[in-house]
Amino acid sequence: LVLSGEKILALIPASAAAPETLAAKYGRVARVIDATGCAIIPGFVQAHVHLCQVLMRGMADDLPLLDWLRKRIWPLEAAHTEASLTASARLGLLEMMNAGTTTLLDMGTVNAHSAVMEAALESQLTVFSGKAMMDAGAGVPRALRESTRRSLAESDSLVASYHGREDRVFYAYAPRFILSCTEALFRGVVERSQAGNLLMHSHAAEHPGERAFVRSIYGKDDVDVLAEYGFSGPRAILAHGVQLTDKQAKQASERGTRFVHCPSANLKLGSGIARVGELRRVQWSLGADGAPCNNNLDPWIEMRHAALLAKSRTGTTALPAEAALRLATIEGAKSLGIEDRTGSLEVGKLADVVVVRTDAAHALPGGDVYSRLVYACKAEDVEHVFARGKHVVRKRENLVFDQEQVCQAALREAKQLQQRARLR
Ligand SMILES: [Zn+2]
Repeated sequence: LVLSGEKILALIPASAAAPETLAAKYGRVARVIDATGCAIIPGFVQAHVHLCQVLMRGMADDLPLLDWLRKRIWPLEAAHTEASLTASARLGLLEMMNAGTTTLLDMGTVNAHSAVMEAALESQLTVFSGKAMMDAGAGVPRALRESTRRSLAESDSLVASYHGREDRVFYAYAPRFILSCTEALFRGVVERSQAGNLLMHSHAAEHPGERAFVRSIYGKDDVDVLAEYGFSGPRAILAHGVQLTDKQAKQASERGTRFVHCPSANLKLGSGIARVGELRRVQWSLGADGAPCNNNLDPWIEMRHAALLAKSRTGTTALPAEAALRLATIEGAKSLGIEDRTGSLEVGKLADVVVVRTDAAHALPGGDVYSRLVYACKAEDVEHVFARGKHVVRKRENLVFDQEQVCQAALREAKQLQQRARLR
């Protein structure tokens, strides 16, 4: 694989990769990395994460979704400061980058979201992100409750400051979910998304208890209400889709609405298993969701869970290894509308590239490359990561962030965050 600047320049046989042959063909060769015993794969795309929640890892275990939000996550998010958000985002970006994630879609919290956008700029990764929008709902702390007008105005101002920066940080509107947003807010987002061709990102069809609650209020399901508001189609990305009916899946595939499978989070919050192997026409991708409902942001774990859970539903041929790897890479790029730029190793695409060892004891001796990658390899096998041609992880060392500093800041800020939130 020959990289030049931000892009993939060529794919050549290993026999043609001697330094002198390369120099004769491509001119000056800055660096040759020997990837013997490794696989070279596209950088992972995680289409649903919450960088603002990384500090809350381990602070909200073993609760169902609505209690998880009201008793833990919202009070903690309300206690965030710029400093704690920066520490949280850096820790999450470091963890994801070290495991080979090069593109992500993030939902923030309500306030001080510019701290997350700044960390995204620092990271060198391709990041789509937006502040959480919340202008309604029971049990929402005062600090997270905003007026419709303020929520939209703040989003507008973040779009103006960050959308398109360095051609790799993009704004994505993020009304949190139906129970915390008014119709006017959703419609305001739809209007802006259409006008500026920006993504809109929310949660839907997640937990059975939540579905019952939504039905008691609206007389129908969140995905149907959102579609009535215009929140559907190729710019709409909805996390979860666990509760999708066949009819809703058919409508989503006809309109082009995307869904993000978050297998670990769905298991941990007791939401169920999304029918990814069955609802094939839906545009699915993968995401780790938040650290407090997972508790890792590890694409390897999500990919493996996706493959295994599909088999538990419909048999061992559901979601074979190669399909699981595609779900974690090119399908994520398609969901974000950037499949012409990243998600696969093709000449002319961005050099979002991961070099991963496939010869560790836990991956030897057999299996084809897809089997090894999906069923045996782990995040710790990632040796090198390139994000848009920049070497961001070299021999497992992160070259963007000072790992020690990021971890120390996270410990310090998490302690203070917990004190400020005064959790019972
Ligand atoms: Zn989420």
